[in-house]
Amino acid sequence: MKEQINILFLDHQAQMGGGEFSLMETIKILNKNIFNPIVMLGTKGPFRNELDKIGINTEIINVPEYFRTYKRDPSRGNAFSSLIKSIFILPDLIKKTEETIKRNKADIVAINTIKSAFFGIPAAQKTKVKSVWIIRDCLTKDFYRAIFLREIKRLAEKVDKIICTSEEVKRHFLNLAGRNSSNKVTIVYNGVDLDRFNPALNGEKIREELLLRDKYVITLIGRLEPWKGQKVFIRAAKTALEKRDNLRFFIVGGALFGREAYENECLMLVKKLGVEGKVLFLGFRNDVPNVIVASDVIVHTSILPEPFGRGIIEAMACAKPVISTNIGGPREILTPETGIFIEPNRPDFLADEIIKLIDETDRRLLLGSNARERVERMFDIRKTTQKLENIIKEIAQ
Ligand code: UDP
Repeated sequence: MKEQINILFLDHQAQMGGGEFSLMETIKILNKNIFNPIVMLGTKGPFRNELDKIGINTEIINVPEYFRTYKRDPSRGNAFSSLIKSIFILPDLIKKTEETIKRNKADIVAINTIKSAFFGIPAAQKTKVKSVWIIRDCLTKDFYRAIFLREIKRLAEKVDKIICTSEEVKRHFLNLAGRNSSNKVTIVYNGVDLDRFNPALNGEKIREELLLRDKYVITLIGRLEPWKGQKVFIRAAKTALEKRDNLRFFIVGGALFGREAYENECLMLVKKLGVEGKVLFLGFRNDVPNVIVASDVIVHTSILPEPFGRGIIEAMACAKPVISTNIGGPREILTPETGIFIEPNRPDFLADEIIKLIDETDRRLLLGSNARERVERMFDIRKTTQKLENIIKEIAQ
């Protein structure tokens, strides 16, 4: 038996989205006596910097921008030419991945994004290295073109093991790949570091900085993306503010993956509705735990099924009540004892629930403390990482 199992994780880009945060937290606590993680990225960027900080070796294969950003915004007009160029660059990316696998003597290739599977799985096959695909996305027509879905199905047949990050993700995967694939699939939820996200943190500094001492703070966390529902949040803020003036609304998150135009639309909507100064854009934050603790209620407004929803487990770990749309992964994370569900795309319902929760302090606190208990039971990063470790040991044998 080899001393250590070399795992080469693949990500086609280097921005910090939920998938990258989840992988980062996992890598931090992987048992390094048994596993040696190396991360191959499609470009330099924040994820690489974070990995550097914790001493994890990275490899960069220079995936072109058109490949990394293709499909994120089909309205950008150059989608077809990007697709063609992406197809042509694939053999080169596969070759570079093969070289990286060999150079690092990888025992396992662990694919962290959909796009990296396009070069990662063929490269693992060619080098005869076992592969596991961590699927963190809902493989539906809402997010992917038919041509992509067909190719994903084909790739999934070639991988040794599939990890889905929720029942929701698994359901869509099996719809695509067929029930026969179910023996390959295991669900491993994303986990949260219960020390980094905890109710005892200090949120006062942020409240003081923003002059919010006597206000209730309602927060939406997530990159700016139309389907994440920031506009629903802004409309709900407008309605709630008509009834209660002591509320303030935080929008936390950056315009990743080229969503600057959408960010402008959100800013314009805030202006149009006359809620400037009351709905605050905090941009991308590195201190999300403190922002959560500075808030009274966290909301999740996605209007398409969210595969998982890291922001929710982070809020729960900080003992905050969550109001979430009743679709996708959040339905597995929250329960009626730990949060409140609303229909998507209903700012009026959201405003009502926010006001109720602000008026009922005892209920708010009870939901929050129940949430912390649930997250300790189900989403502790130590437990979820152990599950992943067991799967990797199994396939590495
Ligand atoms: N996040 C962050 N700073 C921000 C906004 C988000 O660190 O300004 C983190 C957030 O704490 C969570 C992740 O980004 O860990 C978002 O994960 P989620 O599953 O909600 O969304 P995804 O990006 O995967 O769609």
